[in-house]
Amino acid sequence: MKRKEVLIVGQGLAGTLLAFELYFAGVDVCIVNNPQKSTATRVAAGMVNPLVFKRMTKSWMVDELLPVMKKRYRQLEELLGEQFYFDLPMLKPLSEQETELWQQRKTDEKFAPFIDDIRENSPVNRVFKSHAYGIVKGSGYLKTGLFLDAAKRFFEQNEMLIEADFPSNQSNFEDHIFQNIQFDKLVFCEGHYLKTHPLFEFVRLQPAKGEVLQIYAPDLSEKYIINRRVFVLPIGDHRFKVGSTYEWKDLTDTPTEEGKFSIIERLKDLIHVDFKVEEHWAGVRPTVVDRRPVLGKHPAHEHMYLFNGLGTKGVMLAPFFATEMKNLILNGNYSVSKEVDLARFI
Ligand SMILES: Cc1cc2nc3c(=O)[nH]c(=O)nc-3n(C[C@H](O)[C@H](O)[C@H](O)COP(=O)(O)OP(=O)(O)OC[C@H]3O[C@@H](n4cnc5c(N)ncnc54)[C@H](O)[C@@H]3O)c2cc1C
Repeated sequence: MKRKEVLIVGQGLAGTLLAFELYFAGVDVCIVNNPQKSTATRVAAGMVNPLVFKRMTKSWMVDELLPVMKKRYRQLEELLGEQFYFDLPMLKPLSEQETELWQQRKTDEKFAPFIDDIRENSPVNRVFKSHAYGIVKGSGYLKTGLFLDAAKRFFEQNEMLIEADFPSNQSNFEDHIFQNIQFDKLVFCEGHYLKTHPLFEFVRLQPAKGEVLQIYAPDLSEKYIINRRVFVLPIGDHRFKVGSTYEWKDLTDTPTEEGKFSIIERLKDLIHVDFKVEEHWAGVRPTVVDRRPVLGKHPAHEHMYLFNGLGTKGVMLAPFFATEMKNLILNGNYSVSKEVDLARFI
């Protein structure tokens, strides 16, 4: 029988980032992942937006999250020998009212790293005429599929990955054994499957299905992410990811005609170029009712932990909170902030 200090269930963003945290800390860690189950990370556009446009505020904890995120993805790019995080400014078409608000924010020092000047004319060809255009700094995107694949190869080479379904709903694993592995600690990073996990049913998860298209638009500039009611994210070779939708009843990963139609309508409202839809995906975001991640130890089973609730912003949240999870797992006295603590649901 093999021995592992930590067994992680799920190789999405949460499980992957946590596995690397523990690996760098010298912990003997292993991941169990079921490739037949849907993985939100693979569907995600991977976009990072430091602002919340609705209220023109900064995204939650962005000043702390962004530096940690960039450092971690750069470090992993070096380790895995591939680039998967890309900085890219974002273009926000503004209404008259939004222009005023943008100008106010521009004079506020707190927004300096993220808000650039307003332009009267769109710097991107054939975007719908708007009152003005604001440029967001500090935005970018992670090629999520590329990242997961590179990480998976690393885990395989280092005998850290088992492709199997973990029977989360069958046992509390008090014997600390799965297949031929004896483990000390168990961390669940199962994304939206948490909803059916009997030991964590008290967590108020509210999963949200989302759909994304890949389009080919040879006449559209690739210098900016464009974002108004729908995002248009350049991913190279005149290809763009466009999305997304929100649906709370149908929680399958099946793309729908309604989803596609809704994205295309909003896209046509934003850009004036010909495009062809090449791909269409759907996935389920692990969103918690209070829109915060959820980290902690199970109240009754000392050896079981949870890392979930990355919601709509997994790319930015995962690196910072993976470090918090590592601290929690390795140091029994460590406490995470109340806002993200699993204890808030108990
Ligand atoms: C359409 C869409 C667009 C998005 N766009 C963005 C974006 O632009 N920017 C952003 O930051 N975020 C975005 N997100 C959100 C992002 O995808 C999530 O925050 C993040 O990927 C969640 O990661 P996770 O590891 O918690 O879950 P997942 O990525 O779903 O991973 C969970 C893993 O656990 C495995 N698993 C579950 N149960 C078991 C079991 N019992 N045994 C073995 N394996 C198991 C599954 O196979 C899966 O691989 C988007 C999501 C969607 C759906």
